[in-house]
Amino acid sequence: MTKSKILILIAVVAAVIAFFVFDLGQYFNLAYLKQQKTDIEAYYATHPWSTVAIYFVVYVVVTALSLPGAAIMTLAGGAIFGLSVGTVVVSFASSIGATLAFLVSRFLLRDWVQQRFGSSLKRVNEGIRRDGAFYLFTMRLVPAFPFFVVNLVMGLTPIRTALFYLVSQVGMLPGTVVYVNAGTQVAKLESAAGILSPGLIISFTLIGVFPLLAKKIVDLVKARRVLGDYPKPKTFDRNLVVIGAGSAGLVTAYIAAAIKADVTLIEKHKMGGDCLNTGCVPSKALIRSAKYLSHIRRAADFGMKSATVDYDFADIMARVHRVIRRIEPHDSVERYTRLGVDCVEGEAKIVSPYEVEVNGRTLTTRNIVLATGARPCVPPIPGIEDMEYWTSDSLWDMHRKPKRLVVLGGGPIGCELAQCFARLGCHVTQVEMLPRLLTREDPEISQWVQARFQTEGIDVLINHKAKSFALGDAAKIMLCEHDGQEVRVEFDELLVAVGRKPNTEGFGLEELGVTTSRQGTVEVNEYMQTNFPNIYACGDVAGPYQFTHTAAHQAWYASVNALFSPFKRFKVDYSVIPWATFTEPEVARVGLNELEAKEQGVAYEVTTYGIDDLDRAIADGEDHGVVKVLTVPGKDKILGVTIVGEHAGDLIAEFVTAMKYKLGLNKILGTIHIYPTLAEANKFVAGEWKRAHAPQTLLTWVERFHTWRLG
Ligand SMILES: Cc1cc2nc3c(=O)[nH]c(=O)nc-3n(C[C@H](O)[C@H](O)[C@H](O)COP(=O)(O)OP(=O)(O)OC[C@H]3O[C@@H](n4cnc5c(N)ncnc54)[C@H](O)[C@@H]3O)c2cc1C
Repeated sequence: MTKSKILILIAVVAAVIAFFVFDLGQYFNLAYLKQQKTDIEAYYATHPWSTVAIYFVVYVVVTALSLPGAAIMTLAGGAIFGLSVGTVVVSFASSIGATLAFLVSRFLLRDWVQQRFGSSLKRVNEGIRRDGAFYLFTMRLVPAFPFFVVNLVMGLTPIRTALFYLVSQVGMLPGTVVYVNAGTQVAKLESAAGILSPGLIISFTLIGVFPLLAKKIVDLVKARRVLGDYPKPKTFDRNLVVIGAGSAGLVTAYIAAAIKADVTLIEKHKMGGDCLNTGCVPSKALIRSAKYLSHIRRAADFGMKSATVDYDFADIMARVHRVIRRIEPHDSVERYTRLGVDCVEGEAKIVSPYEVEVNGRTLTTRNIVLATGARPCVPPIPGIEDMEYWTSDSLWDMHRKPKRLVVLGGGPIGCELAQCFARLGCHVTQVEMLPRLLTREDPEISQWVQARFQTEGIDVLINHKAKSFALGDAAKIMLCEHDGQEVRVEFDELLVAVGRKPNTEGFGLEELGVTTSRQGTVEVNEYMQTNFPNIYACGDVAGPYQFTHTAAHQAWYASVNALFSPFKRFKVDYSVIPWATFTEPEVARVGLNELEAKEQGVAYEVTTYGIDDLDRAIADGEDHGVVKVLTVPGKDKILGVTIVGEHAGDLIAEFVTAMKYKLGLNKILGTIHIYPTLAEANKFVAGEWKRAHAPQTLLTWVERFHTWRLG
């Protein structure tokens, strides 16, 4: 740090310490203002210019040092100088003070912050360069963020100082008028009864209403900025056009039709999207066949001398397609047409916020919902393009079972499929560059899965980064880096499962300027609304979750908000989100795990129950796994639950309901669970928690009571 920086830092810190040590805050409250009112008025009458100068300097110092008191100073401005003079003085003093605070923050911290977090701030910096003035204007107009925080944070960005000053002065002006006006009313307050005077009530109501009003104005300005260039049709063909008929799009259209809106659903490929055609449904069907084979291999566990099975890979895949066909009618054009949805097969292109083009037709619509999903991500590893790799999209067309399969990726999809193919008799090598599988879960949970995979013969290569692929004479070759060493893996087929990329390109979003996030998803607010107020997004394309049930959850909000906004809209509720990975053992979770609780600094207690002790699990030969519950220390409040074991994805439902409706473990313990079921594990973990929280002192007295009764 340079000498001048150190000097400024010392001066700022000394001034702030002095403020608190000498309790200067006592002069910045309404009571003091009232007490001194007569003296100040008298002084102002005789020394108007020096009163203004003293007030101005104090205001600038308070705001420049980000001390508490700016709001009271503003009220005082109104009380002393009246509305017009007060507004002028406060407007300049607050803008100059804010700019000084901005400069101090910039001088002391900007270089360090930009150096340290430069790469992650890249988008923020770009945004500020492009739109900084508008963002600052909205923050000034809508006081959602404290005044001093805006000054300090903006100092860290590349916004120009003159622009900061100018926008601050203009943006704060309406708020300044409202506060100074309230100050003029405070000055008239002579008695307690005056508190109920209409002038004072109106002034303070204005302070309360102002942020809402300002927010509305900002929303209108934002809407105009993006929609202004596009002529709005006088009438619309329909209320809603939904692009994509996967889980998100289907539910959006279903809800819209159910509430009698005119809705068109456009799908370019297959109704049902990923979940039905290439995701949940085929993968779960394949898992079922693979599980059957694993049971045959475990015949001795179930009391059989031996068991053999004859099967063809192609027949198993045929069953997968039969399952898809069985479920297809649920998502079909016929069903949705019957429900009142206008279904269109074709590729949609957004040509304006009010127009969608499909099959050469232009449909006008009041709102659009983007539900275009995601596709498998293929990392640009040298040689991968020569591999004819499989992904979750193409896999379902595989006719011959690979002998040696490499599964790239240790996430849920990679894990589910790696285990399937191993059980189907392939030699599977699973490669993950991070230190464990299923990295979102707690380490011991990943370990359950990894241990089982290794027992079943999967070569799990964690901490292995795939560096290149090549075609050998007799096999394909993957080179990985592990602990600085090169590891060579020979294989026949490659399955890439390293994540999914949102579908945001090629249908008009870029041309329109719909903003996307760093993760590549369409950026949405808490109402599932994009930066275009009449364009919403849900499902995988919006993130942050990539599940069918979260897509459906978001779809409700997207549909209802699109159809009823601005009259009524709902914030999406992400408070209780469950999911499961359908490996064996299954892993299911709702709420926080230990990793996340630590990351978020949330205090927690852990209670576990081992499913190896559960009667039904023992009878079923599935006596493995755990129920792990995180609760608030000393309180019966569930923070999160992870279950590993047979049917974990079903068992977790009880905790999902409990968390959603704020029921604790006492309630689960007090509920009858059928014997013998796996669900009893939920009750038993509640019992463990209860035992650990038994009231020891009370029990000592109860023991004495019983001893006394023995006579
Ligand atoms: C192997 C695998 C297993 C999975 N297992 C599970 C699971 O067990 N449980 C779970 O909850 N989730 C699972 N998922 C995730 C789940 O499938 C997705 O989260 C879900 O399908 C997302 O739905 P969506 O509607 O957002 O997108 P999608 O289902 O991808 O639907 C998007 C649709 O939009 C269409 N589209 C795109 N662009 C256009 C355009 N311009 N015009 C017209 N149509 C367009 C596409 O053709 C597609 O049909 C799994 C995924 C995979 C890959």
